Order: sequence, then C-alpha cells, then structure tokens
Amino acid sequence: MTRKEGSGLRTARKVWTMEDFLPLCIEEGECLLWQGGKTARGFPYFYRGSEKVNLRPFIFGVVLGKRIREGFQISVRCGHRECISDKCLVEKSVSKIRKDVHAAMRQDPAQYAKTRNGALAAGLSKLDMTRALEIRASNLSRAELAAAYGVSDRTIYDIKREAIYKTPKVANSIFNLAATMGVA
Ligand SMILES: [Zn+2]
Repeated sequence: MTRKEGSGLRTARKVWTMEDFLPLCIEEGECLLWQGGKTARGFPYFYRGSEKVNLRPFIFGVVLGKRIREGFQISVRCGHRECISDKCLVEKSVSKIRKDVHAAMRQDPAQYAKTRNGALAAGLSKLDMTRALEIRASNLSRAELAAAYGVSDRTIYDIKREAIYKTPKVANSIFNLAATMGVA
C-alpha cells in the first residue's frame, strides 16, 4: 500500500470499480481483506473526498449497483470483518446478522474463551455491577457482548441503558474499570 494508491480514493469522482480498492486489500482466497481505515468495531471505510463512507454498502450498492432493501445491511458470507470482496458481500437482515455473530462467537472457541476467561480471571463469575460496568465500557456490539457474557441481547440492552445495574455516582469508575480489565 502506497501513499499514492491510498490517496487515489480521496477523489469524489463518479465511477468506481473494485480495482480502485484492490491496492489496499490483501487477497485471501475469494476474500479481499481491507487494510485501509476501519471503524472502532473493525468495519472497513474510506474517504470519498471528505466524506467518510462505509465500504460494504458502498461496494454493494454503488460499485456492484445492487439495491439494498430496507431493514437489511451488507454483511459477508466469509465472516471476515475486514473483507470487502464482491464475492463475499451479502445482504442480510439485521436480526440475521445478530444471530450469525452470536453463532460465530460460539464456533470460535479461541476468541470466545479469550473474552470469557478475561472476565473469569477477574473474578467475574456471574453478572454483577462490575461486569455491568465492563459491558457499558465496551465497544463491542450488543450481540457480541451477549455471546461473550452468556446472557441475552435484552440483558445487554438493559445494562447499556441502565435499566438494570445503575451506575453509582463515582467519577471515572467506568474508565478505571476499562483500563483495569483491558476492555473498551
Ligand atoms: Zn470474504
């Protein structure tokens, strides 16, 4: 990846093809793993001119010219978070995406154990205030957190909006905890 290739994406020109993005990708089978900008949650984006553009829907909708139905998002069938391959992109309902993320966490024992053991090692064997604060401090999606902590989406939702495990009025508690736990 060179400065020249990367900066070529910064134009706001009208015709885009997959070739525009290849210089910033690593090929892995059918996958094209994006080496450019990624959101906090690891999803590919690029700047078209000054506009930050989410790459998956852009490639699906603009480059491939396919319509994205309402209530659907663009995911990948390969499961690589950084993949932008036209061969992997697939339209999925939001609820289907959640279920798949959950399944992936269950099927990837290494990742699952890492997250889970981190919590257990910290003495967090069950849901409590400490874990609730950890969940609030995390950038992971609700589905990912639900899978990692072995609780329902609804529970994560309730913790996030402080319907349960309300935050005590102690300044910086979340940030101290996040630093201690290595989360966020
Ligand atoms: Zn892929």
